[in-house]
Amino acid sequence: MSDELRALVAAFRERLAWHGRFGVTGAPLGRTPRSGVASPASSENPPGSSERGVEAATALRVIREDLGDCQRCKLAPGRKNIVFGVGKPDADLVFVGEAPGATEDARGEPFVGDAGQLLTKMIAAMGFAREDVYIANILKCRPPGNRDPEPDEVEACEPFLKRQLDTLRPKVIVALGRIAAQTLLRSDAPISALRGRWKSYHGIALLPTYHPAFLLRQPGQKRTAWEDLKEVLAELERQGMRPPRPPAG
Ligand code: URA
Repeated sequence: MSDELRALVAAFRERLAWHGRFGVTGAPLGRTPRSGVASPASSENPPGSSERGVEAATALRVIREDLGDCQRCKLAPGRKNIVFGVGKPDADLVFVGEAPGATEDARGEPFVGDAGQLLTKMIAAMGFAREDVYIANILKCRPPGNRDPEPDEVEACEPFLKRQLDTLRPKVIVALGRIAAQTLLRSDAPISALRGRWKSYHGIALLPTYHPAFLLRQPGQKRTAWEDLKEVLAELERQGMRPPRPPAG
């Protein structure tokens, strides 16, 4: 942790303790947004429930502020909102998709359109709520017409995702679909070859599976994706973590 971050965390802890003496048990982490910058809303960076969570929430907020009103690539002029990522700062399980679609761009939140609704159901089938995990994308801005991300866009954006993942340090990352898997693994293998095979992302267990948008088009592959998610549950359990609710059969 950098000195600057350590100082931020210390200041934040002191402020929490000060409020705590007056019976305040939580603090909104959002600040007045700069113009044109999506708010680092509480749903983006909810306060962590553990010491690790408090530190991670602060670090995620620093990353969001560094991103600012990002103009680092050609997607900036066409976006409505930056889609930073959402969920628990001390999540053990992180899902990484490709890029925001129209609904996500409009709402500033990942996976809230049709594919997102399926992802939410997949997460629920595992015994989690969306709030128990963290969800992000390779790109934080919507490519026009939902085309594939281009290399210069990935190059500009991925360092922020890398910082998010370094902060979260989950037990497992699930890469959703070809773009996420190929980008995180620096691979050009097809998703059919990557899915269901464990890899390591900077020491974090990573399993690629099919993207929910693909599963909406090919519902016959849902069973295969569920087999992958059961592998994820087994790995979490191996690392001492169980979902809050029993997974579906
Ligand atoms: N598809 C993605 O890859 N990410 C989203 O946030 C929405 C759809």
